[in-house]
Amino acid sequence: MTLIEDAKKGFLGKEHEKLATIENMDLNKFIRRIGNGKIVVPKNINRDTKLCSIGKGTSTKINANIGSSSKMEDMDIEVDKAKIAIEYGADALMDLSTGPDLKEFRKAIMKVSNVPIGTVPIYEAVVNKKGSIVDITEDDIFNAIINQAKEGVDFMTVHCGINKDLLSKFKETKRIMGIVSRGGTFLSHWMMHNDEENPLFKNYEYLLELAYEYDITISLGDGLRPGCLKDATDIVQVQELINLGLLVKKARNKNVQVIVEGPGHVPLNQVGTNIQIQKTICDEAPFYVLGPIVTDLSMGYDHISAAIGGALAAYSGADFLCYVTPSEHLSIPSLDDVKEGVIASKIAAQVADNALGLKSAWDKEIAVSLARKNFNWDEMFKLSFNSKKAKDYREKTPVDEDEMCSMCGEYCALKVGKDI
Ligand code: SF4
Repeated sequence: MTLIEDAKKGFLGKEHEKLATIENMDLNKFIRRIGNGKIVVPKNINRDTKLCSIGKGTSTKINANIGSSSKMEDMDIEVDKAKIAIEYGADALMDLSTGPDLKEFRKAIMKVSNVPIGTVPIYEAVVNKKGSIVDITEDDIFNAIINQAKEGVDFMTVHCGINKDLLSKFKETKRIMGIVSRGGTFLSHWMMHNDEENPLFKNYEYLLELAYEYDITISLGDGLRPGCLKDATDIVQVQELINLGLLVKKARNKNVQVIVEGPGHVPLNQVGTNIQIQKTICDEAPFYVLGPIVTDLSMGYDHISAAIGGALAAYSGADFLCYVTPSEHLSIPSLDDVKEGVIASKIAAQVADNALGLKSAWDKEIAVSLARKNFNWDEMFKLSFNSKKAKDYREKTPVDEDEMCSMCGEYCALKVGKDI
């Protein structure tokens, strides 16, 4: 029996019930929202995953993407990235490895991570065929899904929304960037070359059976997401979302947890609109957005651009933010890039949760303000997103007294104000 099935019957296990307390939510409401698919808790039956709820009324969660590429395969570094992402607060990790040894990477990353792990199984099918995308078979794709399900992957990105009808419309669009999702390009290339329907769309019922068997949360990928601001919110992006909305309904009917993925690159004034469209069409399925980046000029600083977009997205209703690192669009992220990307997303999530009035967020805001007022530096460092960096700044220009810093020195407004 899957989690959603339990919730539909009105009960959850003790460990799941604790999540309602963490989210300051009435237990019955929490159970109801899992039952109707508005909250998900990704966990494969084969894995001892730390539980984390994503969806309506819960705090905004963040995901960090890690994994090898065909140009950079170093197991130790990717394992360290997993550790550092979790240390700085990632609620989930996606292993997006595409190097030849991706299976070994996945195992190593899963071994050191307790948070939910996500993957994009079609990568494994393509890598196993040594990169020959058009030669993969339906069985290759589903065998990768089955292997990963058995290994304990908690959530999987599956680009089920691209079908032949949508691709025919895509040919008429005047996009600058075309298709930029890796999974989306693999499938589109395969479909056009073989003149076949998308196996993940065609065999969706079978996919749901597999997801049900292992209680995997499916993450419906947006293969036609825009790759630049100019391409945002066009006909094919919205049409794919409509397809995904129909697939959400089917997954819920089959007692499979489902989330929906979204863009990407969106002008700030369209961020709220994108979330509202998704929430309406997909009946409030948890929304997982990549960033979104709100200017295409931020190379080297895309984590900042994504944090701006992510804060507005989460405030507008997105539930799960996929981080973006400073090396986005330029290179595979370093350890430091992963850390900066996670911190930027954590800031975006906190900003949104404050604006949404979440108690868990406001408790932290009040605690840090009291610590600042009382010159309790240790408490301030503890509450900050990067304690070490905050501490280093304070120590860079040391002062004799606790009741000031080197910014205003003896004219410290807080100190003077306290005296008054
Ligand atoms: S010295 Fe200035 S910046 Fe530093 S704590 Fe006091 S008021 Fe704040």
